[in-house]
Amino acid sequence: MDGCTHVDQIQDVTASSTEGCTDCLATGGHWVHLRECLTCGHVGCCDSSPNRHATAHYEQSRHPVMRSFEPGEDWRWCFVDQAAV
Ligand SMILES: [Zn+2]
Ligand SMILES: [Zn+2]
Ligand SMILES: [Zn+2]
Repeated sequence: MDGCTHVDQIQDVTASSTEGCTDCLATGGHWVHLRECLTCGHVGCCDSSPNRHATAHYEQSRHPVMRSFEPGEDWRWCFVDQAAV
């Protein structure tokens, strides 16, 4: 939409996990909601989760756009613009 130049980094991704947050599954953590990176398919947990792996993934990778991975939710978020896109 208006202003976001990062949507061109969205790829046709395959989710890194369908079971839950990739990083929480690896470390034995737990999550509240799931988010999927639309550049590489990394599945991480939301900012309401203790470890905030989706945000951590953005800070590590600078992949800008993620989407909700929750059933029935259909929205995308740009970390750079801090806005829905
Ligand atoms: Zn953007
Ligand atoms: Zn997590
Ligand atoms: Zn990514």
